[in-house]
Amino acid sequence: DLALYRAKTGGKGQLSLFEPGLEIAVRTRRDLEADLKLAIAAGELELHYQPLVGLGDGRVHSFEALLRWNRRQRGFVSPADFVPVAEAAGLITTIGRWVLLQACSEAARWPSDISVAVNISPTQFRNSDLVDDVKAALVTSGLDPARLEVEITESVFFEMNAVTIANLRELRALGIRIALDDFGTGYSSLSYLIRFPVDKIKIDRSFIKDMGHRHECLAVIETILALARKLSITVTAEGVETVEQALLLQRSRCDDIQGFLFSPARPSAEIDRLVETLPHKFRSLLNPEEPVA
Ligand code: C2E
Ligand code: MG
Ligand code: MG
Ligand code: MG
Repeated sequence: DLALYRAKTGGKGQLSLFEPGLEIAVRTRRDLEADLKLAIAAGELELHYQPLVGLGDGRVHSFEALLRWNRRQRGFVSPADFVPVAEAAGLITTIGRWVLLQACSEAARWPSDISVAVNISPTQFRNSDLVDDVKAALVTSGLDPARLEVEITESVFFEMNAVTIANLRELRALGIRIALDDFGTGYSSLSYLIRFPVDKIKIDRSFIKDMGHRHECLAVIETILALARKLSITVTAEGVETVEQALLLQRSRCDDIQGFLFSPARPSAEIDRLVETLPHKFRSLLNPEEPVA
């Protein structure tokens, strides 16, 4: 291809704007951004909910809200692909506001002992409007703040400033729980856990994936669990796919597991069915002696 040839040879090895591949990538991203801007109004965004299953008794106490985008004429787009685009394009605050209201409104219709966990992006967390958005979602939906948990990543702690500290304090003062998501993958510093108390740690899937065949992974998981117990922090393991992983985590006294072994994220209409059936699935897979009450 002539344009590409010129760009590569004439540009002293630099990437040139004339490179067709790059041009397509830029256009694709611009299209994605434009479609994302219209997605909320077009009703293309949805939340699905993945259960957290208690390793003590197999009961479900909460669900994590996960964004799903059915992009017009193109089908399903992964949040791993569009959430970063939304961040970069300054759309995440608007989308995040919709997520909060939608998650609280749907959870308000669930059994009253079931909570919902909402992912909050670092950009949202740095914004001084966050607490107002959360309050508005709670008031509009009527959801008890004790049934809302927010998931933030370690990068939030890395960039702690007056606004983020105030957000963290105010959310906790409202009775909302804070979970540290993808724990172990960021700029993990144990000092964060002392300076900024959290209610829950979610151990990243990368550790769970290899825990059965890499003793280093199991060692890290067991150490996180021992530390969390001393600090009275609850621990969830992410991405549990096998019975072997679940049994190892149960033996290490992890509190909850989340993963395809029990269920992927499902629409809100399926919450009652999942709450009802998962304790039975738990008993048959992990075989504890006690029957489900
Ligand atoms: P996350 O918060 O760590 O969510 C867990 C991800 O792991 C979800 O991917 C979930 O579907 C996936 N997962 C759960 N169990 C398993 C398993 O057993 N095996 C494997 N391979 N994967 C599993 P999903 O839904 O594609 O979301 C990806 C990421 O996108 C999330 O990671 C979160 O960082 C972000 N995200 C999703 N929804 C939102 C949202 O409403 N707001 C923001 N800011 N970010 C969101
Ligand atoms: Mg999460
Ligand atoms: Mg996570
Ligand atoms: Mg993760």
